[in-house]
Amino acid sequence: MQCAVLLSRNIILFISTLKVVAPRPSSSRLARRFGSGNLTFSAKMETNLEIESAFRGLIDTNKIVIFSKTTCPFCKKVKNIFNQLQENYHALELDNYPAEKTSQMQDVLKDMTGQRTVPNVFINKQHVGGCTDTEQALADGTLFDRLEGTFNTYDYDYIVIGGGSGGLASAKEASSYGRKVACCDLVLPSPQGTSWGLGGTCVNVGCIPKKLMHKAALMGEDIEDSAYFGWTTDNKRHSWEEMVTNIQDYIKSLNFKYRTDLKKKEVTYYNAYAKFVDKHTLNLYNKEGNFMKTITGQNFLLAMGCRPVYPDFPGARDLCISSDDVFSLKEPPGKTLIIGASYIALETAGFLVGLGFDVTVMVRSILLRGFDQDIANKIGETLEAHGVKFVPKHVPESVTKNGENLLVRAKSLSDGSEYIDTFKTVFLAIGREPCTTGIGLENLNVKFQESSTRIEVNEFSQTSVRNIFAVGDVVEEKLQLTPVAIQAGKLLAKRLYGKGKALFDYNHVPTTVFTPLEYGCVGYSEEDAMKKFPDQIEVYHLHFQPLEWDLNKRNKNKSYGKLICLKSEQERVVGFHYLGPNAGEITQGFALALKLGAKKDDFNNLIGIHPTCAEIFTTMTITKASGKPAEAGGC
Ligand code: FAD
Ligand code: NDP
Repeated sequence: MQCAVLLSRNIILFISTLKVVAPRPSSSRLARRFGSGNLTFSAKMETNLEIESAFRGLIDTNKIVIFSKTTCPFCKKVKNIFNQLQENYHALELDNYPAEKTSQMQDVLKDMTGQRTVPNVFINKQHVGGCTDTEQALADGTLFDRLEGTFNTYDYDYIVIGGGSGGLASAKEASSYGRKVACCDLVLPSPQGTSWGLGGTCVNVGCIPKKLMHKAALMGEDIEDSAYFGWTTDNKRHSWEEMVTNIQDYIKSLNFKYRTDLKKKEVTYYNAYAKFVDKHTLNLYNKEGNFMKTITGQNFLLAMGCRPVYPDFPGARDLCISSDDVFSLKEPPGKTLIIGASYIALETAGFLVGLGFDVTVMVRSILLRGFDQDIANKIGETLEAHGVKFVPKHVPESVTKNGENLLVRAKSLSDGSEYIDTFKTVFLAIGREPCTTGIGLENLNVKFQESSTRIEVNEFSQTSVRNIFAVGDVVEEKLQLTPVAIQAGKLLAKRLYGKGKALFDYNHVPTTVFTPLEYGCVGYSEEDAMKKFPDQIEVYHLHFQPLEWDLNKRNKNKSYGKLICLKSEQERVVGFHYLGPNAGEITQGFALALKLGAKKDDFNNLIGIHPTCAEIFTTMTITKASGKPAEAGGC
């Protein structure tokens, strides 16, 4: 039986229904799967030209055409993709024809597309490619644009909002796969007017200046200790101004490096504040808030990071400073009150006291919420031993000018009594809030975590809007750390554009608190381990005195190590905690052991490096449960 089909190019083709090669699932599914104008090809067509005309007819009259073979597993994969997307497709099974005809048709496909193999996929009259290309288009979202007919209509493949740790890493990675990438970054000044260059929080007002100031403070200790090693160091004096100038100069060199890096990687940099118009369009504004231009993108990355929280009490915004300001203060901070008791508060207290300032920390509840509390309290004790004063269970009520100083009034949460003192500087470290409001995300239905402005993402870092992704500090309940933002940003770009499959592993992320006695940890805190694995936990621990501090008994007996082991899994180590010098360096290495599933026996069988602090983890025998004193012996 023969019938005629009128194709868009007005070519009349005679086809044999016997030769129809569209897949034949149940007839009810046929209607759903196949677009209009199927039955467009005849085995009787002799010339390549005739075949090409027929192919073009198919392509012109069907949204999706798959040139396929019934036995080809990649063709099945491709069809599965469209089935799952509930998209109708027309499949022409080339192997339903005599072998020489199949080969001729593949020659024609080669002429038309440069690709001889199947599957050979077309969407909206455009050639997509084979299975890998279709999978890639699904991964990077262009498949949806092809289906919607908006493919290749955007200025950029990938627009990153936020030139910090996560944003820069992701933009550069995406660009390395040949994608057209833009990165928008603009720093809004702090309430005190502090602003900075490209690179985000870590480089400008976070990890980098913090670690350098921490080092400056430790050097002060080293100078004191040096007398025990025979040095005479007269005139121990520290210049805040010189330290700040040198650190800021260094940061400026990094800002410059980030800009040239983007240029080298061919990422277009906009020093602009971005706001969404719709899910593919941004309006850009300069630092004065004036409109600059509109740009469009296929995919977006939200990597806007966080900024310090300012409470409502009088004087908070206009008289207090935060981590946005402290690292570039022109004048020494003098007598300082720090409000807050987590990472930022305690690290800042540590370096300020180490540099010789009078420091008080006002604590609302506990130190270092979320960390092993046994160790958090030891950190508190050493800070106190270094001269930091603590005002426990108090919250501030007001800060007012008092001549050159600031008068602070606070309330005790225990008995309601009033606390009053004067300071030169009041430093707020009560948390950080994501920069996710006022940029149009609400209108796009990007979902936020309940009762917060942190963005909800799935395991692929994808928000509730298909082409918008998020990494770093803006993301719900993930660890707010630079390497976390970088890794999440890179992996995302690899998945989108580099055929990567790996997801971020949020387990076993190591971290260090850079207080004078540094604290590194990875895995569970003792409290969390007890909760997660009731009756299954064995804790090994040891107090020790680092050799380098033994002559003068610095931080006497405060250094400490703890391994939390899971009895039900042959004492697999699920928590590592170290309080002592060089905590970051030591924890980094042991984190790998935990990631690889090391057991307590593996630690026992490891030969220590003598004389080091890290070697205590190879010789721990005392369990907490035994109640025995946990003091390290000699060599
Ligand atoms: P960010 O690095 O904050 O970058 C976001 C960028 O986006 C910023 O430049 C911002 O101005 C810009 N932006 C925001 N909105 C827009 C918009 N609409 N348009 C254009 N641009 C916009 N982590 C560690 O791992 N180790 C440490 O020792 C450490 N110490 C820290 C110390 C301090 C004091 C602080 C504050 C943080 C510290 N952190 C540390 C945390 C670390 O800095 C952050 O986790 C990391 O910088 C987050 O990177 P991000 O890419 O998410 O955002
Ligand atoms: P956190 O959210 O970790 O801690 C906030 C602190 O402020 C808590 O002690 C909290 O007390 C207290 N607080 C909150 N609200 C008030 C209030 N209204 N009045 C008084 N106290 C209050 O914030 P941070 O700013 O310390 O750090 C933010 C993030 O930055 C960290 O989570 C970390 O990931 C990252 N960071 C990492 C560092 C590193 O890797 N070394 C260093 C510094 C920061 P309470 O416990 O009672 O809630």
